[in-house]
Amino acid sequence: MIRFILLDIEGTTTDIDFVHKVLFPYSAERLAGFVAGHADEPDVQEALQSVQATVQAEDHRQIDRAGAVETLLRWIREDRKHTALKQLQGLIWKAGFEQGDYQGHVYPDVPVALENWKREGIGLGIYSSGSVQAQRLLFAHSVSGDLTPYFSHYFDTKVGGKKESQSYRNIAAQLQLPPSAILFLSDVAAELEAAAATGMQVIQLARDGQMPPDAPYLAVSDFSRIPVAAFTAG
Ligand SMILES: [Mg+2]
Repeated sequence: MIRFILLDIEGTTTDIDFVHKVLFPYSAERLAGFVAGHADEPDVQEALQSVQATVQAEDHRQIDRAGAVETLLRWIREDRKHTALKQLQGLIWKAGFEQGDYQGHVYPDVPVALENWKREGIGLGIYSSGSVQAQRLLFAHSVSGDLTPYFSHYFDTKVGGKKESQSYRNIAAQLQLPPSAILFLSDVAAELEAAAATGMQVIQLARDGQMPPDAPYLAVSDFSRIPVAAFTAG
């Protein structure tokens, strides 16, 4: 019997393009202006110093603030996972959400399903590689309004990588539920495999409607096709 549904974001609740075609270009466009406008704030200073330290260590070059901005823009193009970049992007995206420059994309079937599942008494949570802060922002400022009241838990890679079974064991332990009472939804087969290996139930999302030809799991194109009644009855 399913007591908790754990949801991936990109490709599951949300169009992958929202991150790559909205959030990433926005952070690139706003970076120089944001750094100039917030240069005296401690977390911005800390991020800039961290960029300077990395360039010093890797290229033996000293760079000023403009050089740091240039480096950060190159890292965005290279999709480099540097903590300073993530930190600054988080701050820029927060400002963008709060100013209403964009709203977090969720597919229209998502809020309907969340409401139905909540009514059935099923707990709901998110597991995404984006930071917990970024997850909350996306759902707080979504195209369907504030969806954060639906979620009791948010997990990011602090519990471990999404393709590692131990991460799903950690999540089950934090939820104080046996893995078999948890249903995990994701578009990525390797994540579903890692979760299923712990005994979690899993369903694959194929948002483009192209069902994987030999998927070992149930695959659906949207949340309205998830037969939770069948799981809860068991
Ligand atoms: Mg995904």
